[in-house]
Amino acid sequence: MRDKVFSKKEFIASVTENVKTMYRKTLKEATQQEIYQAVSLAVKDVVMDEWMATQQVIEKDDPKILYYMSMEFLMGRALGNNLINLGAYGEVKEALEEIGLDLSVIEDQEPDPALGNGGLGRLAACFMDSLATLGYAAYGCGIRYRYGMFKQQIIDGFQVEVPDNWLKDGYPFELRRPEYCYEIKFGGHVEETAGEDGNLHFEQVGYQSVLAIPYDMPIVGYGNHVVDSLMIWDAQPKEEFSLDSFDRGDYDQAVEQENLARNLVEVLYPNDNHVKGKELRLKQQYFFVSASIQRALERFKKHHNDLHDLPKKVTFQMNDTHPTVAVAELMRILLDEEGMSWDEAWEITTHCVAYTNHTIMAEALEKWPIDIFQRLLPRVYQIVDEINRRFVEEIRAKYPDNEEKVRKMAILYDGQVKMANLAIVAGYSVNGVARLHTEILEKQELRDFYELFPEKFNNKTNGITQRRFLAHGNPLLADWVTKHVGKDWITSLAKVEDLTKYATDPKAQQEFLEIKKQNKIRLAKYIKEHNGIEVDPNSIFDVQVKRLHEYKRQLMNILHVMYLYNQIKANPGMDFYPRTFIFGAKAAAGYRTAKKTIKLINTVADVINNDPSINGKIKVVFIEDYRVSIAEWIFAAADVSEQISTASKEASGTGNMKFMLNGAITLGTMDGANVEMYEEVGADNIFIFGMSADEVIAHEQHHDYNPYDIYNNDEDIKKVVNQLVDGTYSHNDRELFRELYNSLLNPQQGQVADRYFILADFRAYANAQKKIGVYYTNKSAWVKSAILNIAHSGKFSSDRTIQEYVDDIWKLDKIEVNTEGC
Ligand SMILES: *Cc1c(COP(=O)(O)O)cnc(C)c1O
Repeated sequence: MRDKVFSKKEFIASVTENVKTMYRKTLKEATQQEIYQAVSLAVKDVVMDEWMATQQVIEKDDPKILYYMSMEFLMGRALGNNLINLGAYGEVKEALEEIGLDLSVIEDQEPDPALGNGGLGRLAACFMDSLATLGYAAYGCGIRYRYGMFKQQIIDGFQVEVPDNWLKDGYPFELRRPEYCYEIKFGGHVEETAGEDGNLHFEQVGYQSVLAIPYDMPIVGYGNHVVDSLMIWDAQPKEEFSLDSFDRGDYDQAVEQENLARNLVEVLYPNDNHVKGKELRLKQQYFFVSASIQRALERFKKHHNDLHDLPKKVTFQMNDTHPTVAVAELMRILLDEEGMSWDEAWEITTHCVAYTNHTIMAEALEKWPIDIFQRLLPRVYQIVDEINRRFVEEIRAKYPDNEEKVRKMAILYDGQVKMANLAIVAGYSVNGVARLHTEILEKQELRDFYELFPEKFNNKTNGITQRRFLAHGNPLLADWVTKHVGKDWITSLAKVEDLTKYATDPKAQQEFLEIKKQNKIRLAKYIKEHNGIEVDPNSIFDVQVKRLHEYKRQLMNILHVMYLYNQIKANPGMDFYPRTFIFGAKAAAGYRTAKKTIKLINTVADVINNDPSINGKIKVVFIEDYRVSIAEWIFAAADVSEQISTASKEASGTGNMKFMLNGAITLGTMDGANVEMYEEVGADNIFIFGMSADEVIAHEQHHDYNPYDIYNNDEDIKKVVNQLVDGTYSHNDRELFRELYNSLLNPQQGQVADRYFILADFRAYANAQKKIGVYYTNKSAWVKSAILNIAHSGKFSSDRTIQEYVDDIWKLDKIEVNTEGC
């Protein structure tokens, strides 16, 4: 069937017809945006058949269903990815070429649905791709933010945030499902009445409410006709606001409900690894969680009449603590609406919800002030209170006279609701996202919980989808891989292992080099167009792209660039292979140090790029508005992947894996998944430097690190740190970068000097950088290492990760969709 629809002729006919019915235009008259809409609709038409077929199989086979609950889904563009997964990219590209259209230009019309901040949201997107490709029935549950992640503009070197109105032109791949509409209640109070059955009944009264309406987006599996759904919720006022509402009370009520609905889904909070206890965020969490659970239960009850079987057919995975209110919401429904006893409801709930931990950073742990939580969710709060009461009883029984245990593990403590504790107590599984991270959870951060519930803890090292980050993002390399090992890598990435044979093959090496060069030229053109900077594709492309955060240490990277510049200025004849340092990063809108780091990178770029005396040996580029679509090109063009977080702070990282898959060599610390990449690729093909996680943690515990010791004993370091405040990079403004200087040496109230050990690791970093420069000049050794990186990237496919979740946690059934003859 697919072959029929993607006959070139029929596809073009479909596009032509769409342009006509949508815009009353011919293809010649249509704008690129209109053509994008028409092409997307033609693709959606094909997807629809498989989507419906998948739904029918799910109805018929009744498999266990995963609900992946996540506040963020950083999907990236859909058109190209859908075509790849339908196996139709090449044909559609050719068909469009024949009528003078360029698919990549058309793809470029699509806004990136940026419903996420960074790694956590992108992980959810990779997981959906793998779930569909492996043939599991899954719904991604989230929020349809009207404004996604802000667009970043760089003005005068500073980040400026611009709203991302991604729905402005209409998004062709979404489907509104008003038939699934649920009421979500906030505020009011709980009334207890004795029912006829003699039990107490609880009812939330005097509340405000909104309606939740889902939009479904298709998640197309690769070559298997399976199409899963991303189900993201929009909010609507319960009654449309009516001007003829004369009753003053009704009028106020109507305005309030309208505002509540509008505000709820208005924006994605732009903080990564950092929470602020904003009431609206808790509302967003309850909103999408309650709606998703209601839809899941409604679906279950259509097929089954005993809710005790729920754990056999439904599982809810909580991506970080953000959806943890799911625990209490499921309890509430089972208790209040289904009339179950506490023990029955608890038995079911604790076999349905599972939790993924994403960080050990204290500022990222979600805690809600009890007063806010109770006011907003009065009945849900009562349930949390009861879960806590019972759990604290258990702690005291197990550890008599040990209030320290209660202080650390209670869900309610010190006026706060601790969401991670709730997730661990109720979850049937608690997983970290890389082996090192899980070990730190077990031995340090969650040690008390691990002691109590060792059987719940497990590791699931993150992964990425090779369909987007190789097949779509790097078509030249994808074809080269296929040529050498066959095409099975698209669904079984471990097959790339066979590339090992070609790592030293001169012809394969030459081809690899040429492909890397072409990808560097593609990126260089983009940089020329967007930054006005000429970069040399023969230079080393050394790349750090990821959210801007102090723990990721972009500051260490740019300080090292300043150090190199000092070296070259002082010693113009020194041996130095030309480098292009490429950065891309958004900073949370309110994160001052992070935003100053962006300004520093841009001013250093200005000074260095415009200094003719260094002969272009160093170029520095800050790519504006880092997002999935440009990320695909950046990974393809990278030689060196900077993964330089302070050891213990990066739970996994997934950017590191995308670089590896594209044949870049990692320069990194023994942190997150870097540890496992090192194991896979071997010490000869990765550059590791710096303190270990154990060393970092020991310093943190003993408070015995003093960056002044390093500053005073290393002239080169002293010089670059001083250059932050001597006007070198700020037209003599000595205050512009003062807070960066202070973060290293002069901690302000409540802070710690150089909390992320930048000066401690600087020398080791500079030495590793130097080795990289030398290694690069040995072309065949370099290419061998690059090819071996690809060859050993198999473990880091999200297909592997998802299969482990299925085997160890979710226990899903495979579905098979065959659209022949429908
Ligand atoms: C993969 C990815 C990330 C995560 O990168 P890390 O280096 O793991 O922090 C963030 N943003 C985008 C757009 C990505 O594709």
